[in-house]
Amino acid sequence: MSSIQAPRLRSVNDRPEQKDGAFVLYWMTAARRPGWNFALQRAVRVAERKELPLVVLEGLRAGYRWASPRHHAFVLQGMRDHAEHFAARGVRYLPYVEPAPGAGRGLLAALAKRAALVVADDWPCFFLPRMLTRAAAELDVRVEAVDAAGIVPFRVPETTFPTAYAFRRWLQKHLRPYFDEPPLADPLDGVRLPRADALPRGVESRWPLASPALLAAEPAELARLPLDRAVAPVAREGGFVAGRRALADFVRRRLPRYAEERSEPAGDASSGLSPWLHYGHVSVHEVLAAVTARERWTPQRLASTTAGKKEGWWNLDASAEAFLDELVTWRELGFNFCARRPDYDRYESLPDWARATLDLHAQDPREHRYTRDELESSATHDPLWNAAQRQLAREGIIHNYLRMLWGKKVLEWSPSPQAALETLIELNNRWAIDGRDPNSYSGIFWVFGRYDRPWAPERKVFGSIRYMSSQNTARKFDVEPYLERYGPST
Ligand SMILES: Cc1cc2nc3c(=O)[nH]c(=O)nc-3n(C[C@H](O)[C@H](O)[C@H](O)COP(=O)(O)OP(=O)(O)OC[C@H]3O[C@@H](n4cnc5c(N)ncnc54)[C@H](O)[C@@H]3O)c2cc1C
Repeated sequence: MSSIQAPRLRSVNDRPEQKDGAFVLYWMTAARRPGWNFALQRAVRVAERKELPLVVLEGLRAGYRWASPRHHAFVLQGMRDHAEHFAARGVRYLPYVEPAPGAGRGLLAALAKRAALVVADDWPCFFLPRMLTRAAAELDVRVEAVDAAGIVPFRVPETTFPTAYAFRRWLQKHLRPYFDEPPLADPLDGVRLPRADALPRGVESRWPLASPALLAAEPAELARLPLDRAVAPVAREGGFVAGRRALADFVRRRLPRYAEERSEPAGDASSGLSPWLHYGHVSVHEVLAAVTARERWTPQRLASTTAGKKEGWWNLDASAEAFLDELVTWRELGFNFCARRPDYDRYESLPDWARATLDLHAQDPREHRYTRDELESSATHDPLWNAAQRQLAREGIIHNYLRMLWGKKVLEWSPSPQAALETLIELNNRWAIDGRDPNSYSGIFWVFGRYDRPWAPERKVFGSIRYMSSQNTARKFDVEPYLERYGPST
């Protein structure tokens, strides 16, 4: 069994392991997958060494901000896959879905009383870091957090980076050793663990496990939960099985067109993987392995450059290089920021130059001003923006290029940049199936200048923040098929 590198693992409390523990507990909250998962791998390894059973607890809370049938269905579909997967491997899997806010309180502690060790996921944003710290402080057993989020453990860089270019330069110096010990595709393969028969008394009666109907995300089951019902499930199916299918399809059919066609609004050349990456159903290592397998790539092929340029670095074709730059450089840039800046979701975290220019133009008259309700219901004068908002409401996603335009217009049409930021966070995280992710904050704050530079000419409202317009987008791309697909009547 391969080991995991030290920077991925940290102790969250200072309690010892329990010598007479009956099992090792893996608390799955972010890396919601049974393979390519350093946290599960760590839990399996300890269980094997101690000759103890492994118990996997995967919970789904009620009452967190933006909880909706959309997010719940996606996560539940993943839990259904896990129930099948772990049952086939003799691992005790406990899917728990809170029927009401706070109902799950005490479950982790009740299980941890009998655990030799608790292994948890490390994740840098939303309520997860707070939940982990609080829970670990209340337990009498050692809690370890394992970072399975990216190629580089997100706590390794000791600074944040002003641009993707600066981060790429850092990666070009430091990335290579992290390829040496990738996670196992199936950490339970060939492993024999004792079965966990009895759980601590009263656990199953007090915290009943999710039924097959709930795990199937049946509408009647979702309707019983206290969720934001306006935000309905999307057609895209959650879970590692659907995620792997989507990955295979992308690599086989669309990756070769990525560099040329990714920005075409009506095209399908991007991977569409962000929802599965967000919920941890698919791992970045797994994506990297699928992309590089095509060319029998090995890390030795990484060019020994530290100039920060993306072209030629991975030594792959243009499409694979462009894709990996998004998947690794841009994605992990956001993890770095969230891990190092507790104010990652606050206006004050914008660079000084951006706040200065936005402040200078805060009083500029706005040609159009819309309330959050008008925006949310696609009621602006701009058909392309309305179409993007409709795509978000219906499918839980906006095409990448239009997502940038969508954000820029909210800045232009809001009474202040602070109000625009609040609106964007609300719209994105309420409706987007990949929302509440470090990338959500990278993307939203990019609209206001994070990771960017000043642009000329200076404009109303934007100052020297990069400007985008629907007219330019329509000149650059054929937007008609997109407007048709996301028109008001469909
Ligand atoms: C206003 C705004 C809001 C955004 N909100 C989110 C969000 O809530 N969740 C989210 O995952 N992304 C968000 N993004 C970033 C980006 O738009 C999406 O990651 C991308 O469109 C997802 O589509 P894909 O999976 O087909 O990406 P691909 O182009 O196939 O890229 C592969 C993966 O790389 C990562 N990636 C791609 N582009 C970016 C980027 N610009 N920044 C950071 N990582 C990137 C994602 O994990 C993506 O799945 C936002 C961007 C903007 C401008």
